[in-house]
Amino acid sequence: MVDKRQYLAAMGIALWTPRRPLAIHPDSADPPAPPFPPHPDPPPPGGRESRAEVDWVAADERLPPDDWAPPPDDAWEPLFEMDAGDDASLPSPAPSREGRIARMDWEELTAEARQCQACGLCATRTQVVFGVGDPRADWVIVGEAPGADEDRQGEPFVGRAGKLLNPMLQAIGLQREQVYIANILKCRPPDNREPTPAEAASCRPFLDRQIELIRPRIILAVGRIAAQNLLATDTQIGKLRGRVHRYGPARIPLVVIYHPAYLLRSPREKRKAWDDLRLARRALAAEPPGPGEDSARRA
Ligand code: URA
Repeated sequence: MVDKRQYLAAMGIALWTPRRPLAIHPDSADPPAPPFPPHPDPPPPGGRESRAEVDWVAADERLPPDDWAPPPDDAWEPLFEMDAGDDASLPSPAPSREGRIARMDWEELTAEARQCQACGLCATRTQVVFGVGDPRADWVIVGEAPGADEDRQGEPFVGRAGKLLNPMLQAIGLQREQVYIANILKCRPPDNREPTPAEAASCRPFLDRQIELIRPRIILAVGRIAAQNLLATDTQIGKLRGRVHRYGPARIPLVVIYHPAYLLRSPREKRKAWDDLRLARRALAAEPPGPGEDSARRA
């Protein structure tokens, strides 16, 4: 019973009990109405309830229905005090991996990612590709996953696709060092295959925490995999590009653009990528500064 009370207290559920024994009038044809609907088990047969019969359900088992409140008189009192100390005695459940990562600072997050073994990619990676750039950037660029060059050098978008991404950013006035670049996955999938949903899910807490700590004013989702993962959709990229989405509780504007690797194969689509980059720039210009945003952060 003590345990049950502790857990009820920890959940913030009050349990009420009479201050004095319930008044049972031996001569009364009408025993007092129970304070809340009786226990589902029937009382013993034989007419009026005696004191012992009223006690047939132990106090801790006679839990009221959810909407029950004590009558508005002094006859009832809480069975236990709902003070903060009650749950201090409970063993607190171990925080989940996601919960721990969601509270990390930048240094802890980097260290945790570097030693991550949450999915099978840890067995084949050369190194973790955490991200690169200004951790106070207005722009966060999210790609798919490291390729062979990135896996070797430990930095996102340094291969052929990166060599096109850089001038794309410059076209809207951004140097690579001014933005923050990361990927849906921090480890290279073998043979450059697509990330599996399970790999993306295990890696996601890192990216989410990076975005939370950076507090960018706009996110550029580069390619289908980044767009579909960030927006939790399987809509094709052609339908996702060309408009401004919102990301996360902070509702950060998010614009989808074609992946530079795709543009290398389909150069005629560069025009659309250019349109999307300009759309992103306009979306950022239209964003009001966040609450408490100091100009120094962006200077
Ligand atoms: N492609 C990506 O999506 N990310 C990289 O880091 C490199 C290539």
